[in-house]
Amino acid sequence: MLCRRCRNPILDGINLYTYVGNDPLDKTDATGQTIEYTADAPQDFKDNFGAAIKDLNAAGAAKGFASMQKSSDKFFVGPAADRGNGFQTQYSSTTKTVTWADKSGLTVTDSKTGKPATMSPEMSLGHEGQHAQNDLNGSFKKDNATPDTKFDTAEERNVIQNYENKAAAKLGEPIRQDHSASGTVPCSNPKCKK
Ligand SMILES: [Zn+2]
Repeated sequence: MLCRRCRNPILDGINLYTYVGNDPLDKTDATGQTIEYTADAPQDFKDNFGAAIKDLNAAGAAKGFASMQKSSDKFFVGPAADRGNGFQTQYSSTTKTVTWADKSGLTVTDSKTGKPATMSPEMSLGHEGQHAQNDLNGSFKKDNATPDTKFDTAEERNVIQNYENKAAAKLGEPIRQDHSASGTVPCSNPKCKK
């Protein structure tokens, strides 16, 4: 029982249920812990992750993380080398790790207005969670290697059109029609609100 999945004791298992209380992500098994923080994740990063997951879940936009938690594969979440550089937020299929710059938003073009707007760290986290979802679905590697004129790759088109745009509409985030960002924005919290 103590060695249910024999986790590396150096790393903290993330029980997403603790973040979302009675509103579990996509009926996530409350005992399942197959997402772990990387060893270099400080407490304020974990707090930001928890707050972001809670918000994303309330918008029905955290299913990628629920899938990671339910998977028999082990996934990791950890801080970017520079937590204030949103361009370092990424998903690696090789290491099954979501790297998150939790203190940085990105300046993107909001297609609703045609003007620059800030995409929050929380929205970026959800975006990477969907890459992981696609990795679990088996489409990530092929799509990530398939160029796309407007979205860089077929994988980015998939995540932005099938996940991000819908989540962004619910969360009041900018709606992108490409994969570009022109700069970073300092954020003191995952929603990037004052
Ligand atoms: Zn992406």
